[in-house]
Amino acid sequence: MQQAIELIQSSDNILILSHKKPDGDAIGSMLGLATGLKSLGKRVQCFSNDIIPDVFNFLPGISQIENKTHPEHQDLIVLLDCALFSRTGIENIKDVVASFDNLLIIDHHPKKETECDNIQNCVNIIDYKISSTAVLVFNVLKELNIEITKDIANCLLTGIFTDTGGFQHSNTDSESLRAAAEFMKKGSRVDKISRNIFSTKSLAAIKLWGIALRRIKTNPENGMAVSYINKSDMDSLGVQEEELMGLVNVINTISDSKFSLLLTESANNKIKGSLRSEEYKGIDVSRIARSLGGGGHKLASGFEINGDIENSISQISDMIVEMKNEK
Ligand code: 5GP
Ligand code: MN
Repeated sequence: MQQAIELIQSSDNILILSHKKPDGDAIGSMLGLATGLKSLGKRVQCFSNDIIPDVFNFLPGISQIENKTHPEHQDLIVLLDCALFSRTGIENIKDVVASFDNLLIIDHHPKKETECDNIQNCVNIIDYKISSTAVLVFNVLKELNIEITKDIANCLLTGIFTDTGGFQHSNTDSESLRAAAEFMKKGSRVDKISRNIFSTKSLAAIKLWGIALRRIKTNPENGMAVSYINKSDMDSLGVQEEELMGLVNVINTISDSKFSLLLTESANNKIKGSLRSEEYKGIDVSRIARSLGGGGHKLASGFEINGDIENSISQISDMIVEMKNEK
């Protein structure tokens, strides 16, 4: 931590990056950190390769996350909620930053490899036991003696709230609740965050959820509950991929399945897979995600593959049966 604090203190120009298809933790952590560092007089830029889902428009400072590239030198890059440049979705990091002196990684995913293995002048703050990157950012801001304003509180509470599934997942711990209590003392409201993120759906999106729910198939052999959404499903109802956030958690409420899988056909013809399980079900879905080139947490992971949905389902299903047999 001390090394990270010194890096931040000695940097004037800071670029903050996070993972592609940014979620509430990526976006909330980015904005909370950026706002805090700006209060120290730093020049801070936030860049996201992918669009920010509309449900996060209520977050203070959301417009500071840019999608345009204007490569220049940075004293420090902070990589949030992921640990490799490849996860940012930026094809060539030089397109976004001409050069940089130091890299700081703040992440809570279990890791085999981080960008610090590839470059010098890099510091990791990685703790997979922490509920969300937002909590790690909160610790960094406290260490820097930055005043937690209501705006910062709203951003970081959104990160904790979304990564804990609204304080329902097994990563909800006393530290995340204590941080949430601090943010509420600053004026942030869990009910407002919840309403903005989970209760702003269009009728068309709910109908699309219905299509996915009707399609669920369970497989008693490997314990999988699986469904899918084609691009044509989204196009015919005029629904964006981001409006599927939370759907896989509903599929995961089937108590006699071991884990759930939602496959979504993206605009770039790739298939995005989302995997979820529950502590009591005894499955580590990150093993499945990693074997498909993705990653994530034991109970919430993801991956991206090429191919068509039907084939992918049968391939993944066979693969999981084999993985179970190997155990
Ligand atoms: P989601 O299913 O909500 O997109 O992702 C669940 C978790 O898996 C998140 O922690 C996310 O960072 C991780 N994840 C999702 N997709 C990928 C991927 O393609 N690669 C890696 N390494 N992690 C992913
Ligand atoms: Mn996260």
